[in-house]
Amino acid sequence: MSKNLFASLVLGAAAASANIIGGYVVSYQKQLDRFLLRLFIATGAGFLLAATFVAVLPKSLALNPQTPLILLGGYLFMQFFQHTVAPHFHFGEETHHEPYEQAHVGYAAVLGMTLHAFFDGALIAAGFAISAKLGIVLFVAVLLHKIPEGFTAASIMRAAGKSRRTSRFSAELIAAATFMGVISVSLVAAAVRYALPFSAGVTLYVAASDLIPEVNREGRAWVSGVVFLGALFYFVTDLLLNSLI
Ligand SMILES: [Zn+2]
Ligand SMILES: [Zn+2]
Repeated sequence: MSKNLFASLVLGAAAASANIIGGYVVSYQKQLDRFLLRLFIATGAGFLLAATFVAVLPKSLALNPQTPLILLGGYLFMQFFQHTVAPHFHFGEETHHEPYEQAHVGYAAVLGMTLHAFFDGALIAAGFAISAKLGIVLFVAVLLHKIPEGFTAASIMRAAGKSRRTSRFSAELIAAATFMGVISVSLVAAAVRYALPFSAGVTLYVAASDLIPEVNREGRAWVSGVVFLGALFYFVTDLLLNSLI
């Protein structure tokens, strides 16, 4: 097993575990630390945007001239599954109970999250297929929103009136999808040409259309300010990795 493949499996499993942690927080802690979740969502948004624009897009264009089209495809794919198939979805804690009186609304939202999580994993593995540095940067980028993601999935199930067990299961499902994404791209080397731009499109959607609206919904300047810190954090991580690897 190559060193990069090993690293992508280990870090992919770590990112998946963060989904499970997020799901368990909903189950076990009534008064969870909302402040920390907001911080993760805002930092994650800034970091993901910076990593996608600065690190992924140039590499992706060099790898595949079809990148712009595939990127658009990844973005619209998420619009379709998270908001066309699923009539009610937003990132962060689910507190609206009414939309979930019909059980399928909750399941559709979790299905959309499962698909997106698959591409979180695919992005990490595609990064490692190119270089250890890109793999680590994308791991950090993805990891930052993984706890809020598991939390979102579990709280959707709670809002739909499901048991704690079912709500934890929805977070575990997303974790499993993440790891499946890592394995799929790790094992099929030729997939990287498509996996990198497509996952980048999905990631842009997650950052700009899932996480940023959640930041803005808060309506507080400091939460929005954290997005800039998240972007800055990307450049710091990049500098650190340059001196280490
Ligand atoms: Zn809602
Ligand atoms: Zn995600």
